[in-house]
Amino acid sequence: MKPLPESPLSLWLATYGDYAPMPSLQGEREVDIAVIGGGFTGLMTAYELKRAEPALRVAVLEAMTVGYGASGRNGSFAMTVVGLGFDVAPTLMGVERFKAAHRYMMRAVDELDAFIQRENLDCDRIRPGFLRTATTEGYVRRLQRDVERMNAFGFDDIFWISQEEVRARVNSPRYLGALWEPRLVLVNPARLARAERQLILRLGVEVYENTPVLEITTRPKFHLKTPNGNLRSEKLVFATNAYSHLFPVLRRKQIPAFTYMVATEPLNPEQLQPIGWQGREGIEDARNLIHYYRLTPDNRLVMGGGPVGLSFANDLNADRNEAAWRHLEEHIRFLFPSLSEVRITHRWGGPFSVTVDLTPAMGYIGDDRRAVYSLGCIGHGVSMSHLNAQTLRDMLLERKSELVDSPFVRNWVIPWPPEPLRSVVAYALRGYLQLEDWAYERRISD
Ligand SMILES: Cc1cc2nc3c(=O)[nH]c(=O)nc-3n(C[C@H](O)[C@H](O)[C@H](O)COP(=O)(O)OP(=O)(O)OC[C@H]3O[C@@H](n4cnc5c(N)ncnc54)[C@H](O)[C@@H]3O)c2cc1C
Repeated sequence: MKPLPESPLSLWLATYGDYAPMPSLQGEREVDIAVIGGGFTGLMTAYELKRAEPALRVAVLEAMTVGYGASGRNGSFAMTVVGLGFDVAPTLMGVERFKAAHRYMMRAVDELDAFIQRENLDCDRIRPGFLRTATTEGYVRRLQRDVERMNAFGFDDIFWISQEEVRARVNSPRYLGALWEPRLVLVNPARLARAERQLILRLGVEVYENTPVLEITTRPKFHLKTPNGNLRSEKLVFATNAYSHLFPVLRRKQIPAFTYMVATEPLNPEQLQPIGWQGREGIEDARNLIHYYRLTPDNRLVMGGGPVGLSFANDLNADRNEAAWRHLEEHIRFLFPSLSEVRITHRWGGPFSVTVDLTPAMGYIGDDRRAVYSLGCIGHGVSMSHLNAQTLRDMLLERKSELVDSPFVRNWVIPWPPEPLRSVVAYALRGYLQLEDWAYERRISD
């Protein structure tokens, strides 16, 4: 396996302060369950396994440091959105599966929130609610339809609010109205991931950082080869998300796509006053290729999204994108003219995991049910990864639960084709989503 790339540090990792990684794996070790990947999925699966069966010996192996992947770099929105959202997901998944998926996501947000408070995790958690703002008449109609559809499905905690109401909350001259959903939690994701590491260490999970799994053999036990040691285990969890294609057994199940973020300096009172934003809501727009943004506790504006990066042959060296960063900086000025002079202090990006049908997937590898994987959260995995950890636990321990019947547990995931067809499909998909955004923004589509 090629080493994972050194990436520009996210705001969350850059401002984390001193961090002492756990030592890498040395020599020969044996556990009951090995978890590959030290993001939310891996850390929390270890947590859930240990809570369920304290005698289990569980180890997490992380190639870099905990939170290196999407979990330490994301926009921090713990939200109910599945895949591409309330407009596209019901069409892709079918209505009944979508309803079950949305209920799963509601539970994911509520349980993450309760978990953070129960375990007293230091991660700047707030529950400010979610605004999806409309910036064109086409988007007004799209969001109003989303609200009507969700209400008709029986989800009555999703509301349309008028231009006046949304601007009373967050004053952008671009806003024409918004979808309002109170169920959203914001965190500092790097602090959350690393607090979870501390939690599982206290439960007795072994955590090895700077320990890339290079090769896996499967019989009779799993045998994981790393640079300075080997780990044997009865069962195995692939919690490697957008890096999963690096393992031959998962190569065709997902591809990495890249999203980019910038953070401003802390806004001073003169910059913030015209905007309001006292409720500190998490905000997205109504595009397919969304912009997502929030305020941090020290009043930085963190903005992500817009252009989505793709790479040939799943090359992971695409965490930097000058054009995307420039686009995001312009978008801040477009939304909030009072920030025309604001300084950008952090720029970063990272891969999120995409399945062909744009729907998250968990499953078993092989018929003997000893290995499981989770991938394909399409940029909406903060809350989901936490509930997925319970689902993976139930799958591994072969427990019957409603979680293992969720629409995300699937026997089969449509495989991505090999290159060059894979790139053709991925670029065509992105092109379609961009074209639809273009049409909505020019009032061609409504
Ligand atoms: C910039 C960005 C913004 C996002 N914003 C949001 C958001 O606002 N809300 C939301 O819900 N979702 C968001 N997401 C998606 C969300 O962050 C992810 O879905 C979630 O963090 C996935 O967690 P994970 O643990 O599954 O994967 P990751 O956090 O990516 O963890 C996988 C880990 O596996 C490790 N690994 C890979 N290969 C190996 C190996 N061979 N050996 C050992 N370890 C290995 C990696 O180093 C990595 O740490 C965003 C993603 C990005 C990139």
